[in-house]
Amino acid sequence: MAGPVPQSERAPVGVDPTRASIARVYDAFLGGKDNYEIDREVFRGVQKAAPEAQDLAVENRNFLIRCCRFLALQTDIQQFLDCGSGLPTAENIHQVVQRIKPEARVVYIDNDPVVLAHGRALLEENDNTHFAAADIFQPKEILSNETVRKHIDFSEPVAFLQLGTLHHYEGPAEKPAEIMKEYIDALPSGSYVAISHFLDPENEHSAVARKMEGVFRHSPMGSGTFRTLAEIEQLFDGLEMMTPGVIRCADWYPDGPRLKPLNQVQHCIAGGVGRKP
Ligand code: SAM
Repeated sequence: MAGPVPQSERAPVGVDPTRASIARVYDAFLGGKDNYEIDREVFRGVQKAAPEAQDLAVENRNFLIRCCRFLALQTDIQQFLDCGSGLPTAENIHQVVQRIKPEARVVYIDNDPVVLAHGRALLEENDNTHFAAADIFQPKEILSNETVRKHIDFSEPVAFLQLGTLHHYEGPAEKPAEIMKEYIDALPSGSYVAISHFLDPENEHSAVARKMEGVFRHSPMGSGTFRTLAEIEQLFDGLEMMTPGVIRCADWYPDGPRLKPLNQVQHCIAGGVGRKP
């Protein structure tokens, strides 16, 4: 049980520091400071199941950076819609993208009270970067959102990002694919979609994936579904996959040759990028 909330952990108005949140737990995994004891408790629980637990978040974030760099460098896309921004961290999407294309527009969406309370101010760093508070699992709400409509032109290709989000959907197992279909249907031809997701690798590392899933689900955060490769591929239905398709994040165009074998947690997060024909 979490003890009393220390003075140094006083939460902004409207934020309950006695309940874990996805954004703050992720921040704790990444070694950030925007989290409370209840969030670190979730992290420590997953660490007990898998000592390298932080690599779930680290590999996800490194994939985010590499695939945003790829989209900015290799495509003509000028607009990025990011579902589930998370709290600001070392390299945020607008920084990665606008370093390459200063005019590129980035719209972040999140619904976490801490992200809304202070993260959005840091994320909305310039006139080409915007933030909308909305539920990413409600495509109609997102696609008609005023900020989204103002800054994302759906007659031009869009980079659409669902990174580390869909595994937190808590309803029926088939729903994330339906959610993605609705988004993909709304995107114009030439758009790109990037997704990363907790992976059940269906090999000797499955046991650790199942253990982490059990901890996440029974924790005060309450969500974290590990899907198989085939299940994650279904989220990209209707898209042409960029080679090598859906693969462990660590293996998606790594920054250099690998000298050390992957640890078991690095086998448990996958991602890919697809293009709408
Ligand atoms: N996309 C970032 C990344 O990959 O580094 C952050 C991933 S973090 C694990 C997931 C984020 O999605 C959190 O900030 C959380 O608040 C947000 N999120 C989860 N469910 C959401 C929902 N229904 N609507 C909006 N944001 C949501």
